[in-house]
Amino acid sequence: MRVLLVEDDDMLGRAVRDALKDAACAADWVRDGAAALHAASTQHYDAVLLDLGLPRKDGMEVLRALRQRNDAVPVLVVTARDALLSRVEGLDAGADDYVLKPFDMPELLARLRAVVRRKGGTATPVLRSARLELDPATHEARMDGGPAVALSRREFALLQALMLRPGAILSRSELEDRVYGWGEEVESNAIEFLIHALRKKLGAEAIRNVRGAGWMVSKD
Ligand code: CA
Repeated sequence: MRVLLVEDDDMLGRAVRDALKDAACAADWVRDGAAALHAASTQHYDAVLLDLGLPRKDGMEVLRALRQRNDAVPVLVVTARDALLSRVEGLDAGADDYVLKPFDMPELLARLRAVVRRKGGTATPVLRSARLELDPATHEARMDGGPAVALSRREFALLQALMLRPGAILSRSELEDRVYGWGEEVESNAIEFLIHALRKKLGAEAIRNVRGAGWMVSKD
């Protein structure tokens, strides 16, 4: 999935960006509120990780502006431990959840998975389609109830993109958006390569190719 990271602190931003990458998220990092709104209007994100204290529009303004333009992207607000008021204000303004600074990276990632899951309308952590299961916490997949298969970071990101919308056809560029962040070089056949690797691990029927349109996993 693709995440917009809005954080003006260099060290923290870098740490979170790296953790997101390790967790197979394509992460785009901006450092101020105006850049965040611009990015969110030009790119579809699965979630926004939003610091509140930001230059050029603070996080609360960003959140309000997003909701005002009917952008329902899941927003996880990052706030200081003692800022009870901003937490309440943030939730009222349309945040989906918040994490307190300083936070543990595993907690941040778990909350991120949870807001994305809830927005997708599923309460269970494991993504399921007709024949596949994918566990976002372990990056393991199963086909037809078979053994759990470990996926690489990018294999996971690609399969997750398909399994968040079973039955929908995703084009190459839509999949690239989900697997690669800004500034990451994408080889022209990278998506085919990942699909091939996934089919090899899970079986050829795991992912359907719709000629000329893209790929999908079956809904039922
Ligand atoms: Ca800040």
